Amino acid sequence: MNDSAIQKPEPDRADLLQLLQGVNEFTHKAFPENRELFESLANGQAPHTLFVTCADSRVVPERITQTQPGDLFVCRNIGNIIPAYGEMLGGVSAVVEYAVSALKVRQIVVCGHSDCGAMKGLMAPQAIAETMPTVAAWLRNAEAARSVVFTRKPEGPAALTALIEENVRLQLAHLRTHPSVAAALANGQLALQGWVYNIERGEVEVLGQNGLDYLPLEDAIQQLQAEATA
Ligand code: ZN
Repeated sequence: MNDSAIQKPEPDRADLLQLLQGVNEFTHKAFPENRELFESLANGQAPHTLFVTCADSRVVPERITQTQPGDLFVCRNIGNIIPAYGEMLGGVSAVVEYAVSALKVRQIVVCGHSDCGAMKGLMAPQAIAETMPTVAAWLRNAEAARSVVFTRKPEGPAALTALIEENVRLQLAHLRTHPSVAAALANGQLALQGWVYNIERGEVEVLGQNGLDYLPLEDAIQQLQAEATA
């Protein structure tokens, strides 16, 4: 056999090179500029919030919330899903337990987003069952959101938006089934909040305390400020 026939084509390394150059810039520019912050974090973390969101590359929690390293304990997966306790004891359940029991986070935010590929997949699960069986199995943890939305028979883009919003509600309900979360909620040590991030507009809507309506950010801020001064 001719050697050249079995040679794989050389992959384009431009992306990897860009990543390494990015690290180089971080180490020699961003890091020295924030040396005090990074040094203060060297031996421990005390994040105030567990932030659960989608693995989507366009959703960047620290950038959206303008937070610093050390502020957010982040869990990302396909569709910002938290399996109900006992359903699937795995990485996500461990993250929740560790964040609440060991790190004692004071908030958990579940953040869905516009144009979510996972939620599009959930709208047509049979289409992905054959090609992506693992994704399809994972999305079963959001199946109840699909049935809620589809009983209302929404159409077009409204259906996807409704599903994205309902999935956040459902995952908040799943969170409450985790013993660590249930206990911290009962003790008043923890608050849960649902968000939907709009990629195109750079805006976040916040699920109101009634768990029904999504409020514009300004309203959510006002409510929280009023509670703080009450
Ligand atoms: Zn997504």
